[in-house]
Amino acid sequence: MTYKYEYFIANWKMFGDFSSLKIINSVNNYINKIKSRKNKVIFCVPSTLVGHFSNRLKKSKIIIGAQNCHYLNEYGPHTGSINSKMIKSAGAKYVILGHSENRADGDTDNIINNKIKSAIKNNLVVIFCIGETLKQRKQKLTNKILSLQIDKGLKLVKNLKKIIISYEPIWSIGTGIIPAHKELTETISFIRNKLNKKFKKKHSVKIIYGGSVNAKNVRKLIAIQDISGFLIGGASQSGKKFIDIIKNCYM
Ligand code: PEP
Repeated sequence: MTYKYEYFIANWKMFGDFSSLKIINSVNNYINKIKSRKNKVIFCVPSTLVGHFSNRLKKSKIIIGAQNCHYLNEYGPHTGSINSKMIKSAGAKYVILGHSENRADGDTDNIINNKIKSAIKNNLVVIFCIGETLKQRKQKLTNKILSLQIDKGLKLVKNLKKIIISYEPIWSIGTGIIPAHKELTETISFIRNKLNKKFKKKHSVKIIYGGSVNAKNVRKLIAIQDISGFLIGGASQSGKKFIDIIKNCYM
């Protein structure tokens, strides 16, 4: 068995309380049976759960991440906000940034760029989401949009070891629709070429895919070259569905 699919990342969004630890425990029981040191199973949970889950899962293979953070590094008068230093000290190792739901709530490319720089400074790995709307895809603007999101989001970012790019077409998130094989192959290859050109050398930034991944369609998705794993929203809120996705990558 080869373990090409390194990352299985859960994006719980606005879901979960302390009792939801049982979902993660069931996934942990399953991955303990897999003989791979390469797989990384990461649960990006609401900030209210980061500290508690990190403590409870300290001795497990599960990694806890957060779903967003403020762009400022220092403490300050920002009621209700949490910065990367705070999520890091609560136990998060990863953070999702640039998610389309946060972009829709007002995160600009510039804000995302500052969040990314702050997260890297605090030694977090960033799951940097990029993706186009359906209208943009129909207008053949996908590559232009992705290129701009990469240029602006990664402006002055040097430490690429701390970046995972998550390609998430917005029209695929929560809709049950995934891109066609050709479409996805072309887009992933565009992102790879863009990164190679931008950073002027071949490097090993991982690219993952997110958008309506489930146990059934993951069999199609694993046929795509250069995808190192998946960002999984809805299906990650069920231990069984999440485990079935991992299982189906290796059958
Ligand atoms: C997401 O929102 O990051 C995501 C991938 O969601 P879903 O799997 O539910 O489409």
